[in-house]
Amino acid sequence: MSKKIAPIFQKIFGRDFSDTPFLDIMLLSYDELEELVADSEIINLDYKFSIKSNRKIKGNRSVSIKDYLINNVYNAISKDSQRKKILSITHLSVCPYCNRNFMNSSNNKNTCELDHFWKKSQFPIFAASFYNLIPSCPSCNRNKGTETFLLSPYNVNISSNQRLRFSWYPLDGDFLFNHNSIYITSKTHKDFKTDFDLLDLHNLYQIHSDLVLDAILKKIFIPEHYLNEINNIIPLSDSDINRLFTGVYTAEKDYYRRPLSKLISDVYVELNNLER
Ligand SMILES: [Zn+2]
Repeated sequence: MSKKIAPIFQKIFGRDFSDTPFLDIMLLSYDELEELVADSEIINLDYKFSIKSNRKIKGNRSVSIKDYLINNVYNAISKDSQRKKILSITHLSVCPYCNRNFMNSSNNKNTCELDHFWKKSQFPIFAASFYNLIPSCPSCNRNKGTETFLLSPYNVNISSNQRLRFSWYPLDGDFLFNHNSIYITSKTHKDFKTDFDLLDLHNLYQIHSDLVLDAILKKIFIPEHYLNEINNIIPLSDSDINRLFTGVYTAEKDYYRRPLSKLISDVYVELNNLER
């Protein structure tokens, strides 16, 4: 099979492929994918190539590359057990789109879904490509629907702190007693605004104003030497101390280890309790 497919892929992509071209397509790097989707030739390609029989397809029936990638390759890796493996490879505990929901899996249940960053209807050739499959929470996957996002979590050119910065202001004088009087603001990078708005994250984050109030109260009522005193008893790293005080992971690379790390870290930085 591969000998027949490889020349077709070579024609599509203008580069050589190994004896396992479908695997090559699955393992394209993020940068390669980004470059390829910008190529109008790829978007407009006619995928009506066909392949002959293989283990999955009985007889000598022909099938298009598009259907094979979606119905055979992608469907196989989107099964629960495979999704868990993909999630474990990424080391993500929290949804990279919203930073609000854990993505859990046990032996029996899995709350991680795989979102096609570039839609499989538009780019079926990348339907099973690892860097096009974003582990995400069911809420984000559902809210994104068939919309197109602009900024992939795998795009390292714009960091988490550049994408989004949270802040807050009091709506009323009772905000120290009533978290509903705290309004959370969000400033987004121009390339992230569309994605942020499509998920309605600005409004969704308002329900977390109680955590903002916790941070404000800690700033006011917990003396700065408190954590140093703990450190005299139990030696802790700076990141341990920050996590103990804030309840979240405050290093940018660790935001996706605990929900709401980005929001809470931004609030603490603003309150001058955390350096960035
Ligand atoms: Zn999410």
